[in-house]
Amino acid sequence: MITEIPTSDEFAAAAYAQFDFAWDIVISFLTTLDEAGQYVDVDKDDQTQFWEAARQRILTSLIIAQQGVELAIKGKLVGFSPYLLLAGSPSDWPKDKTGKGIEYSEFRTIDAQDLIKAYNTVSPQPFDPKFMELFERVRRLRNSAMHSVNAKLQISPKEVILIILEAHEHLYSGQSWVMARRDFLFSAPAAQIYFDNDHIDGILVREFWTVFNLLSKSERERFFKVAAGVRKYICPACKYHSGELDGPPPHYAVLSPNKPKSSTLWCFVCNDTHLVRRKKCITEGCKGNVISEEYVHCCTCGEEQ
Ligand SMILES: [Zn+2]
Ligand SMILES: [Zn+2]
Repeated sequence: MITEIPTSDEFAAAAYAQFDFAWDIVISFLTTLDEAGQYVDVDKDDQTQFWEAARQRILTSLIIAQQGVELAIKGKLVGFSPYLLLAGSPSDWPKDKTGKGIEYSEFRTIDAQDLIKAYNTVSPQPFDPKFMELFERVRRLRNSAMHSVNAKLQISPKEVILIILEAHEHLYSGQSWVMARRDFLFSAPAAQIYFDNDHIDGILVREFWTVFNLLSKSERERFFKVAAGVRKYICPACKYHSGELDGPPPHYAVLSPNKPKSSTLWCFVCNDTHLVRRKKCITEGCKGNVISEEYVHCCTCGEEQ
């Protein structure tokens, strides 16, 4: 008998934990650099040295992200049958020495390179070829990072961010990475020791404002559903949370629907809509006409009305 058989949900939780950890590493460098720019002059040379010092840690985050991808695929396979993951023929399997059964974890599992093939064989819907390409590319990068000390092996923080966003999109389509990240921040060890965790929404805003600025217009549209050609406004709720941490007002909300008389802004970070009044801003030089009903500030320049 095989005991302690893991469930699909347990694998998914483990996969999410790895994505979150990899994201945490990369985002901490990006926000550190962003914040430093508010206080000191960070020139190109400083930036190069900063990323050189972070190089090994960024590679580590890639290794962790790849582990997350493997765990997520394993979880999907376990959804069909947990025995699909067991490697080798029965003659290679461990023996039941106690008579109480053999724990699942004692078995050798199939190699990472066979995960995709196993999934595509049993699933009625095979993986998207684009995901298979991503998996192969990341697996190779991870192997070079693990097994060599190639000083030329460079991975940018943006590459890791995109790997996580893209893998998450393929593996858990329909789930929001922003919401998953928010849940993680609220369940993080540090969140357990403070009486109130109001600042966590501010951390979330800072992270996604940084990532929003890092991505191209088409990447923003793909991963955050923020249309490329439309005007961006300050999200009133996110501005409030960002202000609690002395952060900048994030310009990433859009009119929904995008019409001249539209009276709601939609924000991908809050995943919420906010009422706005269509009235000209009183600040000189500002052409804005979208005023937050709740906070009574202009969503273009941020000034109080
Ligand atoms: Zn918002
Ligand atoms: Zn204004």
